Amino acid sequence: MVSRIARIEAIPVISPAGSANDLDGTADTVIVKVHDEDGRVGFGEADAPPSVVKSFIDMPTAHLWSRNAGEILVGEDPVEIAGLWQKLYEGTFWPGRRGLGMHAISAIDIALHDLAGKQLGLPAYKLMGGARRAKLRPYCTIYPGLAQGRSIDDLMGEIFRQFDMALTAGFRAVKMEVLFYDLVTDLELIRRIGEGRKALGDDILLAIDFGYRWHNWHDALFVLERIADHNIFFAEAALQHDDLAGHARLAERSAIRICGAEAAATRFEIREWLTVGKVGVVQPNIGRGGGLTEIRRIADLREIMGAEVVPHGWKTGITSAVGRHFQAACPAAPVFEYVSPHVFDSPLRRELVSPEPAVVDGYMDLPTGPGLGIALNEELVACWRADR
Ligand code: MG
Repeated sequence: MVSRIARIEAIPVISPAGSANDLDGTADTVIVKVHDEDGRVGFGEADAPPSVVKSFIDMPTAHLWSRNAGEILVGEDPVEIAGLWQKLYEGTFWPGRRGLGMHAISAIDIALHDLAGKQLGLPAYKLMGGARRAKLRPYCTIYPGLAQGRSIDDLMGEIFRQFDMALTAGFRAVKMEVLFYDLVTDLELIRRIGEGRKALGDDILLAIDFGYRWHNWHDALFVLERIADHNIFFAEAALQHDDLAGHARLAERSAIRICGAEAAATRFEIREWLTVGKVGVVQPNIGRGGGLTEIRRIADLREIMGAEVVPHGWKTGITSAVGRHFQAACPAAPVFEYVSPHVFDSPLRRELVSPEPAVVDGYMDLPTGPGLGIALNEELVACWRADR
C-alpha cells in the first residue's frame, strides 16, 4: 500500500554560536521535511542561505516551468526518488536549474531518501543500489578559523590541538585548512605544511585546503612542487573556483591530485570540471549539487572519466549522515569530508541529530536504521528556528 506525500516544509535554523566573520558552515541550516499520509517524516538539509531556500520551496506557482515544490510532490509516491527529482528539475527549470534552486532540490532529495527508507525499513544506501564497500573511511577536517588578529603560531597551535583530538576520536585521515592568506608568504606556507606532516607522522592521510589562495596556476604550482614529498593526498581550492583553464594547467603539471568544485551543482557543471578543468577529484556538496540522486550520477562518471568524488560537507549531522550513505553506495569515493563534533566546536553540529557513529582505527561501520538512520532534535529546532 503506497503512502503518498502529504506535504513539505522548509525550516530555517540559526545557531546562536554562529559568527558572520568566519567561514563556518555550521552556523545555520535549512531543514526540509517531507511528510507522508501516515505521519512519517523524512528530512534533509541544504548548504545554502536558509531563508532563500525556504522562499524557493514556498514560492507560488507562476507557470509550468516555475512551480511550487509542494504542488509537484503532494500525492506522489516518495519511493520514486529519481522520477521526482526529474519532476522537480523540470518544474523549477525557469528559476532553478543550477544554484539556489538546485540547492533546494538537494535538500528535498535527501529528505525523500530518508522518508522512502523509513517506509521500506531500509537504510538510504540500500536505495542507492546497496553497499559497495565493507566500511566507511571519513576524513576529519581541521579548521583553526580565520586569523582574526591571531598569529601564525597561534593558528598552527590550534591545528596541532585539533590533530590530537581527531586522532583521539579515531580518525586516520585529516585535511588541514591553511586559510592563512596574507599572514604567510608562500615559502612560509611550505614550511608550515611540512610542520603539519611532521606532527601527524607518515601514516595519516593528509590533504590540504588552500581556500582559493592563488589567482594564477604558476604560484600554486611553486608551492605544490615543494610539498609533494610530504605525501599530500589532494590539494583543494588552490585556484579560484571558476578558473577551470587554470585548474587544467595545474592538474597537468602537479604530482598532487588537484581538486575543487565544492560550489558546483549538477552533473552538468561537474562535467565542465572534468573536461575543461581536468581535475583528478571533484568535491560536490550533496546538499548543494543535487542530493544523493545526483551525486550518484556524478560518481558514475568515474567509470568513464577516471576521476574520484570526495564530497564537500561542512554542515550539521544531517550532512555527515548523508556522506556516510553516499560513501557506502559509491566506490568512486576513497574518503569523504567529515566535520567531527569531537574536534570542531559547534553546537548545531553536535546537537541537531543523533546518534553519532564511532570511528575506530580510521573507519566507521555501514549505517544501520531506516532512511538516514538519525533522529532530529526537535527541541533544538523549536528553539533555534528562525521563522517564528
Ligand atoms: Mg573546502
